[in-house]
Amino acid sequence: MKLQKPQIFNYIEALQGKIEHLPKEMEETYAVMKLGYDVESEFARLLHETTDCWWIHDLQIKNQNKIQFDFIVINDETIIQFEIKNFSGDYFYEKQKLYRSTGFVSKDLINQFEVANDGLVRMIDKLKIDREVKSYIVFINPTFTLHGDLRKRVNILLRSELYKLDNILGTNFKYGENQMIYEMLKSLNQPFLSQFDNYKLVDFDQVNTGIKCIKCKKLIEPNMFFDQKKYVKCNKCGDKIGRNHLIIQALKELYILKGKPISVKDSVEWTGISKAALKRILYSHFSRVGQNKASKYIYIERENEY
Ligand SMILES: [Zn+2]
Repeated sequence: MKLQKPQIFNYIEALQGKIEHLPKEMEETYAVMKLGYDVESEFARLLHETTDCWWIHDLQIKNQNKIQFDFIVINDETIIQFEIKNFSGDYFYEKQKLYRSTGFVSKDLINQFEVANDGLVRMIDKLKIDREVKSYIVFINPTFTLHGDLRKRVNILLRSELYKLDNILGTNFKYGENQMIYEMLKSLNQPFLSQFDNYKLVDFDQVNTGIKCIKCKKLIEPNMFFDQKKYVKCNKCGDKIGRNHLIIQALKELYILKGKPISVKDSVEWTGISKAALKRILYSHFSRVGQNKASKYIYIERENEY
């Protein structure tokens, strides 16, 4: 089970260090997404440690309305939705609304959450899946303090209550059946958020070639790769990184930034590494499309690397 990185998030990371300045809009998007992604990674890590149940991250469904679920866990009795919120500081629940101490109203959070819950119930019903649906809002930030009886209306979990997950997540004895439900729900995923169509992408010709350091994101001088079999030292930050790891990362970036399958020739131009070495890496880490001379490569993320 894997954490889904939004497409545009991968794209911006691939661009970092490869152009003079990131477009402002992308920089802002990235900052917001990074926060959300880090918080969701933390919850995914908790799931990973706590349960062997099947779970899905960032399921996006287009039914009558568009619904997004942060996490869905499938256990023997229930299908559980978790909505992760990183709110910090004091909040008040009054008159059916959640307020910040500064007076700012947390817009429609509860309403949206209930719509998502109803959507999930309807979907499970339609698919004739025999499981109860439960939904929780997880306030993961340790400084979040709640005043008022929000619990009367929805299930919530505060940071200090995450130990309860162990009980909530339940068991996965019906392994095969649960896996089938997992596959069924996953197949409904139709991402509508953070897709490329919402952004103006950078022209590929504007992007600098070269292999960049995984740590400091700056380009590593090509001569640092010369005669290095296992590790390459970054001439900017001094970090020592696995040579293959750097090259694989660079080829993934090429694939993402180009937005189409890459050839051996593209890879040589991009990295400055020998054809023979690149072919070895492409064969073992990328998937081939097309035949013989026309063959090109694409990168497919594997499952189970949460
Ligand atoms: Zn570096």
